[in-house]
Amino acid sequence: MSEQLIMLIAVVLIFGLGFTLEILSGKLKGAKRLKRDGGFIIAGLLSHGLLAGPIVAGFAGYLAVSWFPDHAGGLSHVNFWAAFAVIFVFQEFAHYWLHRLTHEKEWLWKIHRTHHTAENLNMGVLYRYNIFWTMMLPQLWVGPFAIYLGVGMPYVLAVMVTYFVNASTHTAFRWDLWLREKMPWSEPFWRVLEKVITLPDTHHAHHAWGPGSHLNGNYAITLFIFDVLFGTAKIPNRRQKRFGLPKGRSYHWTEELFWPMVRKPDPSSGNQNKPSGKKVTA
Ligand SMILES: [Zn+2]
Repeated sequence: MSEQLIMLIAVVLIFGLGFTLEILSGKLKGAKRLKRDGGFIIAGLLSHGLLAGPIVAGFAGYLAVSWFPDHAGGLSHVNFWAAFAVIFVFQEFAHYWLHRLTHEKEWLWKIHRTHHTAENLNMGVLYRYNIFWTMMLPQLWVGPFAIYLGVGMPYVLAVMVTYFVNASTHTAFRWDLWLREKMPWSEPFWRVLEKVITLPDTHHAHHAWGPGSHLNGNYAITLFIFDVLFGTAKIPNRRQKRFGLPKGRSYHWTEELFWPMVRKPDPSSGNQNKPSGKKVTA
């Protein structure tokens, strides 16, 4: 089975089951702007699968062959777990810095902002993106190189671990707090784990505003230890009540999806959504 097919099946299973479970258990009940959110999810799935995937895979594949013309399968002798570890840590590290920069640079923030205007946090937000965001993802660029060089399966596992954790930290289910409340004796374990791996606690804080929020931090998808090491970690240990951005409703959907191809006048010339100094303030 090809690497692409394995990833497709895993994504359909994880996303399909998780999102369906959220809907069936009423997690989206009472959510406002459901049509808009649904439109963003469909646009995100389509742009990821039909635009970013083929464009980046085609271009990165071309680069891999041009840069390493005589090395097809050249790394296939490398130990599976060693290759997995290198690919996984590299992708997580690159994603941490990409994500952090999108919060610190205004033009990048507008590409990432769409992901933050969701007022209801659930697995659908995994696909709520400006169409250019997915083209920047390290995971998409690394894939063709890994497959060409013969370490496709370690790459698939690295992407799947990241995808699974990403789904489990965006979900509306606060499974982490539930487990902690059910098993108070396990608290020392969680105190260590929450500093190493991103949990719903820290990622919900990244999407929230108001008490327990931390918009400009908690950037790692999986390896939260990067946030701890680079001084951007905040661990609130609480449920957040509000998600999105204070000015999130004022953005036109076309700009949300297509900026910089579509540019609208900034609705908040005050301006709460602009990065002030280095960090985005809302
Ligand atoms: Zn973010």
